[in-house]
Amino acid sequence: MNYEFLKNEDPDVYRTIAGEQKREAEGLELIPSENYVSPAVQEALGSIFTNKYAEGFPGKRYYGGQRFTDEVESLAIERAKELFHCDHANVQPLSGAPANWGVFAAWLEPGDTVLGMDLSHGGHLTHGAPVTFAAKIFNFVRYKMKDVETGEIDYDELRELALKHKPKIILAGFSAYPREYDYAKFAEIANEVGAVAMADMAHIAGLIVAGVAKNPFDYGFHVMTTTTHKTLRGPRGGMILSRGEVSSPLKAPAKTIENLPTLIDRAVFPGMQGGPHMHQIAATAVCLAEAATPEFRSYARQILVNAKTLADALMAGGAKLVTNGTDNHLMLVDCMRSWGLDGKVVEELLDSVGITLNKNAVPDDVNPPFRPSGIRLGTPACTTRGMKEVEMEKIAELILQTVKIAEGAPREALKERSGELKKVHSDVKALCARFPIPSM
Ligand SMILES: *Cc1c(COP(=O)(O)O)cnc(C)c1O
Repeated sequence: MNYEFLKNEDPDVYRTIAGEQKREAEGLELIPSENYVSPAVQEALGSIFTNKYAEGFPGKRYYGGQRFTDEVESLAIERAKELFHCDHANVQPLSGAPANWGVFAAWLEPGDTVLGMDLSHGGHLTHGAPVTFAAKIFNFVRYKMKDVETGEIDYDELRELALKHKPKIILAGFSAYPREYDYAKFAEIANEVGAVAMADMAHIAGLIVAGVAKNPFDYGFHVMTTTTHKTLRGPRGGMILSRGEVSSPLKAPAKTIENLPTLIDRAVFPGMQGGPHMHQIAATAVCLAEAATPEFRSYARQILVNAKTLADALMAGGAKLVTNGTDNHLMLVDCMRSWGLDGKVVEELLDSVGITLNKNAVPDDVNPPFRPSGIRLGTPACTTRGMKEVEMEKIAELILQTVKIAEGAPREALKERSGELKKVHSDVKALCARFPIPSM
């Protein structure tokens, strides 16, 4: 994009975009929830569909002029259903958090219980962190890993909690868990207690559609939420996918599992949202078509190969990883155990050399959330740039070098070592220069 109008009309905003463009191009992006969209996705997102109000659903709108909005939303819906092996897709949630709210609003009454993954064991904020509004309305109970060395979930505890608390939803999903779930066990327990089995696959949707991670729908799950902007590599957005057909979205149906698609549509609109973001939905349709290609499948495979290579190289260099490795696109380093440094210090240190990742709690972290013990990193973004195993080994080396510079040195002493940090930073820039970002 060349931004010729913006440059003239609003140089202040243009400067921020140009700055961000340079930052993304010159830096190594290791935040596992980030990615780079294709030029086609970016064009659709920047399209004139942003001008249009389209409250309602295809064929059932509250405003006129819907020929093309209906067409584009139907494209997104059909593509999503085919890719995720389900019968119904609501592509209107504005992002991942509203998608989860959509399911809560469709199925729960205030005071109902949700059984979700413990946050320090990898669960997401929207799964009932005490600071969320959802936590004021619903009752969240947590399950954990049985063994942090292997990462296996404690399914016995999960079942006991389910029998004891009678949750209306059992929620499988994570933003910081490097292993696969046993979805069949989740679904079995949900069925035993009459709960909806809900999967929040925000992080790994791209891996699922590429067939390199399991699809919860293949193991009896009732509903799945996801973002569209993480491994799926689309615009920022969310979707709710489910089994079964919409009956009549105009009448309030009974709360049965068969009625979930109808309940979900009504919860999203008019329950929670107003007009859908049609430009975002158009871009979602584009990313879903891209995700159905053989190129995308090799991309997803490479994400995993890269993550394993990076994890192995970090561990070979002395880093201690939560669950001792990874089966997906992300990993957690316990920085306290590895280097005696907390996650915030390591995040800032790596930021100073152009390596972006985030501090993160480790299971049952004794450190506070703003200064947790670990960092979380992943490979979706750098794999989109075309980086492979050799580059992953280089990245591990750059991370370990940077940490070594700080290890044992008091903060004040880091200034004296700024020369060494500058050298690493120029190596980072040189690596990035060889792998341009697709939409620039
Ligand atoms: C990222 C994420 C979300 C929230 O998505 P937003 O688009 O940031 O609202 C929800 N659930 C999980 C598991 C996530 O990883």
